Amino acid sequence: MRIRVGEFEVVSLTDTAGPFFTYRDAYPTTPRETWQPFRAEYPGYFAGEDGLFTRVGCFLVRGEGRTLLVDTGIGPGPVALFGGSRGRLMEELATHGAAPQQIQVVFLTHLHPDHVGWNLAPDGKPSFPNARYLASRADWEAFHRAEVKAAMEALVPGCVERDITPLGDLGVLELVEGETEILPGVRVLPTPGHTPGHMSLHVASRGQQALILGDVFHHPAQVPHNEICVAFDMDPQGAIQTRKRVVEWAAAERIPLAGCHLLPHGLGRIARRAEGVAWEPL
Ligand SMILES: [Zn+2]
Repeated sequence: MRIRVGEFEVVSLTDTAGPFFTYRDAYPTTPRETWQPFRAEYPGYFAGEDGLFTRVGCFLVRGEGRTLLVDTGIGPGPVALFGGSRGRLMEELATHGAAPQQIQVVFLTHLHPDHVGWNLAPDGKPSFPNARYLASRADWEAFHRAEVKAAMEALVPGCVERDITPLGDLGVLELVEGETEILPGVRVLPTPGHTPGHMSLHVASRGQQALILGDVFHHPAQVPHNEICVAFDMDPQGAIQTRKRVVEWAAAERIPLAGCHLLPHGLGRIARRAEGVAWEPL
């Protein structure tokens, strides 16, 4: 699945997908009945009584002679947290005719383990040898604090020491702060909350636009219910504020959106309906 944004295209890539979590574990503070109204419109997100079907996605942005990869999935695995699955990002890229050597920028929306897995190859070299890797300074600092690093390593062993930290020594890392244009028409927007430095990518060309949102939303229910926080939202209040801001902007301008964990391909829009706002897959 791909969308055109003027001279650019945004291509959805799926690294892995499956019923890896339960609603109880992923949304421990959200009462069970909150989900009920969403079962009919978004059946793909529900696996049995309490199972949550999720996808780990990345996006390719290309056009104007540029090729960017947004996030790098769970990696070669197998990753126990994701049902022992192995990421298939490299096959996905090949399917879309994108060789690793062609990627000029790897944009990391944030540094959670399911977004950094293919940063480095098994030999420790960058998987995308000609790319600069962009991460937010706030996340880089947070994920190198002892308690955050320990918590992440407990979830996915090696996800900081093997997949993130070496980027600094390899000379490929560029730390980003605030709102920044990284290429003509491609702008980084801070969308903090899920992690301290979580960032989104705004793509604009010839009067069209799209917004790649990383993990601002994990579930369509969070569009009308901004207060629903996934267990991995590190700053829940910040995440809620970011969702409110994005919903208002994206609904007003009907902006095509891309979310890493949304189904079936992560691409959609926010519609205003009589009963309120709703996520509509493209
Ligand atoms: Zn994620």
